[in-house]
Amino acid sequence: MATQEETFKKLVAHCKEYGFVFPSSEIYDGLGAVYDYGQNGVELKNNIKRYWWDSMTLLHENIVGIDAAIFMHPTTWKASGHVDAFNDPLIDNRDSKKRYRADVLIEDQLAKIEEKINKEVEKAAKRFGDSFDEAMFRQTNPRVMEHQEHWNQLHERYSKAMNAGDLAELKQIILDEEIVCPISGTRNWTDVRQFNLMFQTEMGSTADGAMKIYLRPETAQGIFVNYLNVQKTGRMKIPFGIAQIGKAFRNEIVARQFVFRMREFEQMEMQFFIKPGTEMEWFKHWKEFRLKWHKALGLGDEKYRYHDHEKLAHYANAATDIEFLMPFGFKEVEGIHSRTNFDLSQHAKYSGKKIEYFDPELNESYTPFVIETSIGVDRMFLSIMCAAYKEEQLEGGDTRVVLNLPPVLAPVKACVMPLVKKDGLPEKAREVMDMLKFDFKTTYDEKDSIGKRYRRQDAIGTPFCITIDHDTLNDNCVTVRYRDTMAQDRVKIDELHEMIRKAVDMKQLYRKLMA
Ligand code: ATP
Repeated sequence: MATQEETFKKLVAHCKEYGFVFPSSEIYDGLGAVYDYGQNGVELKNNIKRYWWDSMTLLHENIVGIDAAIFMHPTTWKASGHVDAFNDPLIDNRDSKKRYRADVLIEDQLAKIEEKINKEVEKAAKRFGDSFDEAMFRQTNPRVMEHQEHWNQLHERYSKAMNAGDLAELKQIILDEEIVCPISGTRNWTDVRQFNLMFQTEMGSTADGAMKIYLRPETAQGIFVNYLNVQKTGRMKIPFGIAQIGKAFRNEIVARQFVFRMREFEQMEMQFFIKPGTEMEWFKHWKEFRLKWHKALGLGDEKYRYHDHEKLAHYANAATDIEFLMPFGFKEVEGIHSRTNFDLSQHAKYSGKKIEYFDPELNESYTPFVIETSIGVDRMFLSIMCAAYKEEQLEGGDTRVVLNLPPVLAPVKACVMPLVKKDGLPEKAREVMDMLKFDFKTTYDEKDSIGKRYRRQDAIGTPFCITIDHDTLNDNCVTVRYRDTMAQDRVKIDELHEMIRKAVDMKQLYRKLMA
């Protein structure tokens, strides 16, 4: 059995080999934590975005979309707090010269302790079988209790240091815990320093006094500064939402795990404007709706969990993450935050404009509160690829690599293949393809044996392979081969369109969301 790390490496290689993800500017040896999506990756990514966009703007008549510019007036980032507080604590190891996030080193240490506890529990569960009482074991086993006590103390100390921004204490924790650099294996650490994650550039020529501007680190602020524009021109009544998909940029200190943490990435964010005092009810609503959205894809309900935040950002009064089980553990894919009226109030203060809502029912004005749902397209892409990638042993000793992608998201829906390159079969195959291609992404393949052609489609997750053979010319039927089961059926050409539509139609997901 391959370890999870090996499987992940294979997945990264697979993404490159099959045109999903390439390192950016690879001919120049790439650029750290920047990636390009290839011919199949972009289709999958576009399908994810469509699923999100339609779930917001089609299914909710009170949610509309916008597309704001990446560049924004620099005061935006002063008002939002990013200029002063969008920092990560960094630490260097003097021997390896490698840089780390101090908070991540400590969180990894917490995860290690948790893992030790889980191992003890697993071992005992095996030993005791059906009579195992996990809760009792956790409360009474001396080794587990010792680890748990260690975890609790470390967690409390760490949360306190993070909340207070106490950099010296973060370093002391790293020393006390005897955390070593994974590269050099030493504890030769520098002090912890704050590092602002925003990229800067200049607008205008230096002669007329260039203005320092930032590449946006989140798309949310583009929504907040347009709140009044959209509310007025769209005659929106509270509660209502504004959705946006777009690029965001963060100069991440440690960029790891492929497209999980990139320096240029894409976000899908929705800000939902509500009456103050109703935030807990709406927070709960969006928390549930967003998990339903993930689960509707059928990747396995057990792969998701909520992670409620104990340490809240200065503007938030409730926050949770939706985590997905990646090969490197449960990781955040989406955040749901109750942001109070912080952003709108700050923009009102810095711009001098009145940013409020007149509530006709109450006959009074107020600054709306906001619930935010924020998901990274690239992390969503990665979670889907991780769940879909399978190496299968077949009968007869053969193996195949298959992507069990949800058919609605698959980059290519069907591949049309003439059995041979002659006898009028390619012409017939083209006819079939022309019949399908306006509605579904369809490809054509006439090279190599049918078996090899099937493998190529399995590797990119194509749900249907359609083979045209000599009988087709007489009976107008084709052989359809299904990706997941590898079973084959004889299907009338006239029925192909409906068969594919049923499998790839996003409406089936929308119905689940509305149920
Ligand atoms: P993390 O703690 O992993 O750095 P975050 O809590 O800073 O993430 P948010 O600011 O809440 O992330 O951003 C919302 C979403 O944007 C995240 O849930 C994630 O899916 C995505 N995201 C954030 N940073 C990155 C990144 N560097 N690369 C890819 N996606 C990202």
